[in-house]
Amino acid sequence: MTRIAYVNGKYVHHKLASVHIEDRGYQFGDGVYEVVLILNGKLIDLDGHIRRLERSLNEIEIQLSFNLKIFEPIINRLMKMNFLKNGIVYIQVTRGVASRDHKYPKSVNASIVMTIKHINISQKLQKNGQKAITVEDQRWKRRDIKTIQLLPNCIAKEKANKEGAYEAIMIMGDGTVSEGSSSNVWLVKKNQLITREANFNILNGITRKAILKIAKVKNLNIEERKFDIKEMLDSDEVFITSATSIVTGITEIDGKKINNGKIGSISKELRDYYFSHSM
Ligand code: PMP
Repeated sequence: MTRIAYVNGKYVHHKLASVHIEDRGYQFGDGVYEVVLILNGKLIDLDGHIRRLERSLNEIEIQLSFNLKIFEPIINRLMKMNFLKNGIVYIQVTRGVASRDHKYPKSVNASIVMTIKHINISQKLQKNGQKAITVEDQRWKRRDIKTIQLLPNCIAKEKANKEGAYEAIMIMGDGTVSEGSSSNVWLVKKNQLITREANFNILNGITRKAILKIAKVKNLNIEERKFDIKEMLDSDEVFITSATSIVTGITEIDGKKINNGKIGSISKELRDYYFSHSM
């Protein structure tokens, strides 16, 4: 089936979709992005993703000449054209095309690209616990901005992949856990939910925010604070969240089993609640 992508106002065949070689995203990683989950034809938390995109754009001073509200009808059209009910939409905004120069160019139009991809959600639901490894967090100091500059994240994920693990959990210089290479990290200790507070050190996940709300509904105690590797390895349950991993139980880290290698009951409960209220 032909896949259709969106590039700067046009719906084009995915294979032919392209931007110019002097796009600043290509040359400098000068852009930001979002990934939105689609469940049963429904865009999950689109408003939250659009608000975070707006914030990322503001933080790096990319100005758009239109309101981001126009993205919703574009995504809906892409979903229809691709006959897509379950999967993800990738939205990327870069500063645009300009002769290569580090300084921000004046009066260029931002480049907007969107692609859509099928994911088998029921497979995700059946997923057993996953392995993770820990790696040094080698990123810059503004991890709250969802930049397309993902090389340290790619290096971390590839290391995990080579070691047969699903995620790389990143450790900061002070020994505390920041987040996963593409997810937020959570601990469960005696019915207490712990996740790092959202500041410049992590990306404030949209799924993270949804799980915090669910945890409140379920009257779980929540602590948003730092934790180190030892505390993580000693906790009752560990799980990660993201638009694509949703809620994924982590049952082994650096070869040490968590919860005897089984997904914990609270991780499962949060995942099931998230699904049943999203579908
Ligand atoms: N942290 C990082 C570094 C990520 O790449 C992601 C996924 N985009 C997340 C956290 C989770 O964010 P979200 O729940 O919005 O997908």
